Formats: sequence, C-alpha cells, structure tokens
Amino acid sequence: MRLATIRTAAGPRLHVRGRSGYVDAAGESGNLELATLAGLLNSGPPAWDSLRALETRDGRPVEESDFQAPVPAPARVLCLGVNYSEHARETGREVPNWPECFVRGAPSVAGPYADLVRPALTERFDYEGELGIVIGRGGRYIRPERALEAIAGFVVCNDASARDWQRAGTQWTPGKNFDGTMPLGPELVTADEVDVADVQLTTTVNGEVRQSARTSQMLVDVAHAIEFFSAFTTLQPGDVIATGTPGGVGMGHEPPLWLVPGDIVEVAVEGVGTIRNRVVDEDPQHVSRSWLPAASSSRSL
Ligand code: ZN
Repeated sequence: MRLATIRTAAGPRLHVRGRSGYVDAAGESGNLELATLAGLLNSGPPAWDSLRALETRDGRPVEESDFQAPVPAPARVLCLGVNYSEHARETGREVPNWPECFVRGAPSVAGPYADLVRPALTERFDYEGELGIVIGRGGRYIRPERALEAIAGFVVCNDASARDWQRAGTQWTPGKNFDGTMPLGPELVTADEVDVADVQLTTTVNGEVRQSARTSQMLVDVAHAIEFFSAFTTLQPGDVIATGTPGGVGMGHEPPLWLVPGDIVEVAVEGVGTIRNRVVDEDPQHVSRSWLPAASSSRSL
C-alpha cells in the first residue's frame, strides 16, 4: 500500500493511492481516526485492512504541489551518518566501526516536491539521497529478525546539509537542522510492498547522476539500524530513521559542487519512489548574520 499526506481544503489528510489517483482515507473508510498517518499508526490491524480495501477504488488526481511529507511532523528523525564506505572515504573519514548518528527535528522536514530552501547562512549547501524508514509499531531492544514488524514502511529522503555548519563544531545538529532541509516522500510504501534489502538509489542534480549505489552497500542495514537505535531509545510510531548516504555528495567532488538556486535535485529509490526539489534562496528579509561559520575565526565565545 502507498500512503500519502495531501493538502486539502480541510487541511492535510491521509490518502491511499487507489487504482487511479488518491483516495481520502478517513472519508472513504468512515473512520475519522484515519485522517492522519499518526491516527493510522495508533490504530490496530482492522484499520489497516479497511485502507487496503481502498486500493482498488478510483481516487482523485493530485497536483505535486499538494503533497506534504507522508509523515508531516515526525517527533524525530534518527539519522545514520557515514553508512556507506565510499561516502566515508570521500569525506576524509575512516570507515567507522560504530554507527555515526544524529537527530533531526520536525521543522527540518519538507514535502517531496517542495522548494528546497538554501539557508542564507551557508555557503556549502549539499544533497544526500537516502532511504528512510518509518516506524510503525516500534519498541525497544528489537532483534534484527523482528525488525520488519516494527516498521510501517519506507520513504525517500534528501538529508540536505549545510557543510560549513556541520564542520564548524564536532556535533552535526545545526548543519543538519536548518528549516525545511529534509524533503521526504512522496509516499510511505508499506513494508509488505517493497523489499529494500538491495535496491538502486540514485541522486541527480539537473539530470546529472551524482550518487548511484545499492542499498545492500550500507554498513548498517535496515534490520540492524532498527536494532541499534532501539538499543537506547523506544522507537515510537511515526519516528523516521534516515539510513545514510552513498558516495557522490557535492563535498566529495573536486572542486566541490554546492547546490545553488535553480538546481533541481532528484532522489530515487527503486520500488519506493522519487522526490524532486528545486533549490531556492531563503528570503533574506529576516536574516541575521550574527552567526556565520566562515567567520568563526574572528568570533570568540
Ligand atoms: Zn545523511
């Protein structure tokens, strides 16, 4: 099943991809709890079954601009960094023997076709095409062989990063949390519909292939990512896990290929979908330039 969150006159609502178009989940099932993905994730198997019945209906066509992130406001996005050895090498790091990880918050998430806003305070804005996992049931101390039971499905994401902010300190939080820098979607593809163990991941910028890899090249695979994060935190319904990016990011090129306004970035994961975002500049009107990593040498705390 393919689930989308679509902007309507009544606000964002959960939809199921039908035989054609998209079918309003709450409206057509008669279950008001299914108006949002959060409502679905807190419901039991009968709710899922009622949505599966909608897959054969004809829905309405939807404009790309009406797609929101299928998980519109995740409580957190748990991210793996340096999870492909080629990406480790291109960023001058050792291949890690322990998962590198960081957290994004909901304000950093954006729609699958939304404008990707290049923050005014970065000169080094970069893309990272990734496979995302959406947690369904969740839990703690999840064994790899039971990981699938904890997962609702998969999304495509772009972990777009302000490299100068990421590298200014040792923690990655600011460089990875500028508003709207993680487009996500276009649909949540349920785990029974796609096997992501070995699928193609491709990122293009203006049609030029920059990243091309198989998900089987991950250092920590999906099942072990679930096991790792659930070793220290209870995974909650609606949490998202971003599984890291392969080689070919902008900073890995010589000279680096930073994103500039007008660029079209596409990330495709075979069997899951394609997100596409146009890079635009942040509205400069309210920007304060009191913190700029490039000028950090002249600033003392
Ligand atoms: Zn990443």
